Amino acid sequence: MRNIPIAVPCIGQEEVEAVREVLMSGWLTQGPRVKAFERAFAVRHRVEHALATTSCTTALHLALASLGIGPGDEVVVPAFTWIATANVVTHLGATPVFADVCRDTYNIDAAQLSGLITPRTKAVIVVHLFGLCADMEAVRKAVPPGIPIIEDAACAAGASYHGVPAGALGTIGCFSFHPRKSITCGEGGMLTTNDAAIAARAEILRNHGASIPEEVRHAGLRPWEMPDFDVAGYNYRMTDMQAAVGLVQLGRLDGFIAERQKLAALYDKLLAQIEWIRPPKVPTGYGHAWQAYVTLIDKDKSPLDQNSVLARLAEKGIGGRAGTHAVTRLGAYRGRSNAIQGGFPVADELDAWTMALPLHNKMTESDVEYVVEVLKGL
Ligand SMILES: *Cc1c(COP(=O)(O)O)cnc(C)c1O
Repeated sequence: MRNIPIAVPCIGQEEVEAVREVLMSGWLTQGPRVKAFERAFAVRHRVEHALATTSCTTALHLALASLGIGPGDEVVVPAFTWIATANVVTHLGATPVFADVCRDTYNIDAAQLSGLITPRTKAVIVVHLFGLCADMEAVRKAVPPGIPIIEDAACAAGASYHGVPAGALGTIGCFSFHPRKSITCGEGGMLTTNDAAIAARAEILRNHGASIPEEVRHAGLRPWEMPDFDVAGYNYRMTDMQAAVGLVQLGRLDGFIAERQKLAALYDKLLAQIEWIRPPKVPTGYGHAWQAYVTLIDKDKSPLDQNSVLARLAEKGIGGRAGTHAVTRLGAYRGRSNAIQGGFPVADELDAWTMALPLHNKMTESDVEYVVEVLKGL
């Protein structure tokens, strides 16, 4: 029987060597490798500033903290996303206000925004789910000027929207390097922005609030002199070991995407033979990064429910998963409603009926054919 996991990191000798070099260098935490990773990431995503963090969650937290968001403020987030998108709002004492999503793209429904934005709204977080950018033009039209748009680009390294890279589409972008994402360094994140003042605030908050970063102080003339700490910051520094891996992975990003794109196209073609599975939609002008290949099961035509389909795939060695969850169905946020009547019907449907099929850079076309054959037999 085959074993086709949902995702596997693609790590080679070059990553191993890069880590060894850092381990032997005498500088392990945020240092020269982090700087190099940040610069390369900024160039690839066409932004002025990139700041490495410990995860996308901490990058999002830093983004909101850098905007001064706190108690009494509201931040609009999509209802269908990883829970971290909402949690960072909660952590700052602000309130996440949930928007339903579009059934075809799984991303935030911009038509809901005008009904959700109040005088308390301090930011809108859009998610580029599974590597497909949100409809930024519609979002920009619906969000009053002055309210920053934050991109949760956890899944969207290398994605683009009408030629503009993810991370350069809003006021701030936040990426993830968790092993489930397009490129990985174990855990890690990146905050991107073209706003120098936001970048400066985020840099200070990332390092305990220190007015001078450690690596600058230690390389300076009087490294024994403690800087001032003007704000109560966090420790969200990435290690140089992670950055060394991230830098190599970033060099492989476009190759990874091209490979996954080919596998996704094959899935699209073969799944057309199964009437109860809808392949993911890619509107024209969008460069999908294919972090995941997420289908929608037609609940009226499917022979089985979502978990039963996933269980049957597992019996055949195939790692299928739900797309992601409706945050509004989880204990931490259950029962939240918004100003729009009727709850979150699309997020609820996607929660119950999306299905991610295996997609990663160690898969072959024959693996894709096998997955589709198994699905046909259900
Ligand atoms: C994975 C993910 C996150 C969290 O990323 P971490 O790096 O694990 O903190 C946040 N938002 C979305 C949409 C994600 O898919």
